[in-house]
Amino acid sequence: MFIRVVLVALLLLAPLAAQSPQQFDILIKNGRVLDGTGNPWYRAEIGITGDRIRAMGALTGATAKVVIDAADRFVTPGFIDVHSHAGDGLATEGLKHGQPLLAQGLTTVFVNPDGGGPVDLAGQRATYERQRIGTNVGQFVPHGSIRRAVMNMSDRDPNAAELTRMVELTRQGMLAGGVGLSSGLYYAPGSYSKTAEVIAMAKATAPFGGVYSSHIRDESDYTIGVVAAVQEVIEIAEQGGVTGVVSHMKALGPASWGLSKTLIDRIEAARTRGVQVFADQYPYEASGTGIVGALMPRSAQVGGREAMMKRVLGELRPEIRAEVKTNIARRGGAETLMVSRYSADPSFEGQRLSLLAAKAGMAPEEFALKMLEKGDASLVSFNMSEGDIEGIMRQPWTMTCTDGDLVPMGVGVPHPRAYGAFARKLKRYVRERNTVDIAAAVRSMTTLPATVFGLKDRGQLRAGAFADVLIFDLAKVNDAATYEKPHQLAEGMNDIIVNGELVRRDGKFTSALAGRVLRPERR
Ligand SMILES: [Zn+2]
Repeated sequence: MFIRVVLVALLLLAPLAAQSPQQFDILIKNGRVLDGTGNPWYRAEIGITGDRIRAMGALTGATAKVVIDAADRFVTPGFIDVHSHAGDGLATEGLKHGQPLLAQGLTTVFVNPDGGGPVDLAGQRATYERQRIGTNVGQFVPHGSIRRAVMNMSDRDPNAAELTRMVELTRQGMLAGGVGLSSGLYYAPGSYSKTAEVIAMAKATAPFGGVYSSHIRDESDYTIGVVAAVQEVIEIAEQGGVTGVVSHMKALGPASWGLSKTLIDRIEAARTRGVQVFADQYPYEASGTGIVGALMPRSAQVGGREAMMKRVLGELRPEIRAEVKTNIARRGGAETLMVSRYSADPSFEGQRLSLLAAKAGMAPEEFALKMLEKGDASLVSFNMSEGDIEGIMRQPWTMTCTDGDLVPMGVGVPHPRAYGAFARKLKRYVRERNTVDIAAAVRSMTTLPATVFGLKDRGQLRAGAFADVLIFDLAKVNDAATYEKPHQLAEGMNDIIVNGELVRRDGKFTSALAGRVLRPERR
């Protein structure tokens, strides 16, 4: 009898022990938890110790070194940017903190997009780890850089030995922790690659649970057209046995407006057959590019910059100028192109190509070539329609990205997406236009990318997950950066936790550099 009483007492005590007040490093109370899954928000307290969430729910009586009263604000996972040009900036002393990224809620950014960036991912990782960084980083293995390392800027297929080398470098990149293969088939030298070459390299990522993310061969009607270019991603995913991502998906230029419907149909059809295809998007009607990327024919770029300038200054100039003219029209005209960075003459920055050319008494195409003689310029190019942007955004397979650079405050007039993309999606497309609801938008920035790219224990609020956490009031989220005045941090993300460390508290950045270089575990 006595033993039975003791046993009953122990059984009663066991759950009590589990519920006894817990001690955490950080306790978040009174929040509306959007866990990232796309489910509606619910009430829960979150207990964080070390770098992970240890408990979620009604943590009655729990104590912590830091207690944050979320005061009815949303509590969400930190956002993941699946296409970022912040890689170089993060590697510098002045920008390693990544504050323009954190301020829009980004706790993870994927660098080396569009097939660019270093081939040596281990070296890049070592740099970040040595100097430390403010956000987590995922590294793409860059197709274009690998091609250039092996074949320079030649416009031909690789021979067998070259392809073997390119495949091996891809494998090395994945071994070093790559999140997938990125390509920029629109840009040289990616544009010189045929589909079979990319499939061979994408296949090398498959044993690692590979992903292929592409700035597609044509987002407009330059060459094969945007529909065939999306189809190429599907083909590479299917033949390569990997997940395909149409990166910063859009229909560029008035002649392509409305085609998002066809693109969505193609992706849906592929998904129905079991091909894993996704997209990502930045929520702006303008893209960011350069004179070379947007206006120059690829045939003129064979052999690199020096060879290109020889052609521009030689007898091919009239032919090149005619193509530049066509490409300006294709993007919507010279008044839709704004110079965002031009080191040869910073006074051009913030001005439209149409106006600059008129002032100089030149045709825009001639003026663009004149500018190019002194160096490439970055351009902001207004070329998308709201209907396409919203149609793409509504798809449950569309993630979010910035496609933004990380540059020192005040340098150039960069595309505002670098500072504001994620805040703008929440403000304009959730709060003002109701294009997507808050739970869907947060999912597109958190669990969806974490799942697609195999970031284990990231992108979701649950016990056991890494503590990358945001606390914000949706009504106060604001993308302050505009096309005219882009150098402004986004507003509203006042409390930010990265790997369990408070990197921003009550709107003030702490000095913590809590980011890590991630390694996917999708294998
Ligand atoms: Zn791109």
